[in-house]
Amino acid sequence: MEKDDLKYLQAFKFPNKVMRSQTKILEYILKLKGKVYVAFSGGVDSTVLLDMVCRVWASLEEYREQPLTVIFADTGNEFMAIRRFVVEFCAICEKRHGIKIDLIKARNKEINFYKIPSTVGYPVVSKKVSRMVRDIRTWCREIMAAHHIEGALTREVFERIIVEYEPEMTHTIRLYFTGITSKGKTCKSRKLPRKWYKLCYAPFEVSEKCCDLIKKDPCKAEAKKRKLYGLVATMASDSKQRESAYLATGCNSFNGSRTKSQPMGFWFTDDVTEYLRTYSLEYCKEVYGDICPPGSSNRFTKEQHTGCKLCLFGCHLEATPNRIQRLAETEPKMYDFAIRKEDGLNYGEVMDYLGVPYKTEGGSNE
Ligand code: SF4
Repeated sequence: MEKDDLKYLQAFKFPNKVMRSQTKILEYILKLKGKVYVAFSGGVDSTVLLDMVCRVWASLEEYREQPLTVIFADTGNEFMAIRRFVVEFCAICEKRHGIKIDLIKARNKEINFYKIPSTVGYPVVSKKVSRMVRDIRTWCREIMAAHHIEGALTREVFERIIVEYEPEMTHTIRLYFTGITSKGKTCKSRKLPRKWYKLCYAPFEVSEKCCDLIKKDPCKAEAKKRKLYGLVATMASDSKQRESAYLATGCNSFNGSRTKSQPMGFWFTDDVTEYLRTYSLEYCKEVYGDICPPGSSNRFTKEQHTGCKLCLFGCHLEATPNRIQRLAETEPKMYDFAIRKEDGLNYGEVMDYLGVPYKTEGGSNE
């Protein structure tokens, strides 16, 4: 699909978007003979998706007696209210559409989020930055081992390594520092911004692996076990990466293990709120609050996104109070646990290092 085709779809009027998405859902279910599942996080996007899939499922005589599988990635890092909403909304869908839902909570039995920072590394800044930092730190340690450089990976050691051992850089590591590929092409998006060099010698580990370990892999494993193919609520407008993925396949892709449906791929986030309004659809009000009037800078009066409450991806871009500061209000015990070093997640030190505020106005941590 060309970018122009995407723009054309994105410009559809709202009722036509809903109609097209439902047609794509129908096509996906029929082609896969009902061997599908809905990835449901409890956020508004997947709440809308689940509602649309239920409508289509209930209209299909050959499938409506079978339970519709819904997979929820149970990372242990969701808002408590979201965890409750996931169960409640499935029950609402069953009643409203007269179907059965098989709600699967996918979990990694070996590791949960609370062990991720100390064993794998903190997910900070963005998935891309965390990945680059992890690769650079690994390479630096390999250089240290090979050249008998002892001690910790401090700033001094890091700077010495990237100057003195520059000829030993792999293509990937050189790309992260220069933004130039081995073929001489400029690729700015693969260059680590200078302001994040400090993460390469931070006194804590950094990694992007968290999502795969506690979210994606457990869901994939559950789906594989049941031989089911997913419907997800991702949208091209979410990020550049998602836009490329959508342009590559469109709404439905039937490609072996990569078979996937993203029937809302051409929606904007405003279409999601429009859907909630038009169909008076339930969503997790406890977390999102009310829907803001059209034209407001925010979509909801409380959280704009749900996802993992302790994720540090993107936290540096938020205005204060950021998601961690807001947690002090909504889940104060969890906030304390996250901030403290002793028997906690040591977020205080990590956020100080990142230059992201975590103290709350008038809080005991002032
Ligand atoms: S969103 Fe953040 S905290 Fe949640 S699984 Fe992904 S990396 Fe981990």
